[in-house]
Amino acid sequence: MSTRLDHRNPLVFDTHELGRRPGALQRLSRTVDAPKDLGIADVIGVPEGAPVELDLRLESVMEGVLVTGTARATAEGECVRCLEPLHQEVAADFQEMFTYPDADDRGRSRTAEPADDEEDEDRLFLEDGLFDLEPVLRDAVVLALPMQPVCRETCEGLCSECGVRLDENPDHHHDAVDIRWAALQGLAETVQDGEKDNMGGAEAGVDEKQEK
Ligand SMILES: [Zn+2]
Ligand SMILES: [Zn+2]
Repeated sequence: MSTRLDHRNPLVFDTHELGRRPGALQRLSRTVDAPKDLGIADVIGVPEGAPVELDLRLESVMEGVLVTGTARATAEGECVRCLEPLHQEVAADFQEMFTYPDADDRGRSRTAEPADDEEDEDRLFLEDGLFDLEPVLRDAVVLALPMQPVCRETCEGLCSECGVRLDENPDHHHDAVDIRWAALQGLAETVQDGEKDNMGGAEAGVDEKQEK
């Protein structure tokens, strides 16, 4: 199936101490380095190696171990409106069942419904009493992050005319007259440049502009 779990991997947890007696509980806290690509690609995410605080509650149930927990970290991204870098605290809650491989066989004979096959593909299993939290953490963090991060809810973004940051320039605006005037000026310069090109000599053109 998959490669064997390595107990030295900080995202792999050991349930031997918890035991298999249903109802047994264990609480765990662990700070791990964020794995690669923890977040939404090219939008916002927790940088690789940044600390992720995990608080877990393991509960032994008949068919496996029910893991409930929260991951806390700081995500980094870019405001979609003003493109400034942003930091955002993220607290991602998750709950996942890790099934004993042998319990799964019993479960199947008990409830042999056709729908089971589909569910099985998403199922996570304990391997020698170990489970890998990484896929659970990844899904939870992605769900907890905004698809359209903003530096502030009120961020005004950039001026559509010139790209200036509107939050930093509250009085910034362009008069309709200004725009027309700028357009005319641009046109005039283009015509002049054209004439200069015909006359030849770029240096002459520079002098002319400075005189204005
Ligand atoms: Zn912004
Ligand atoms: Zn502008």
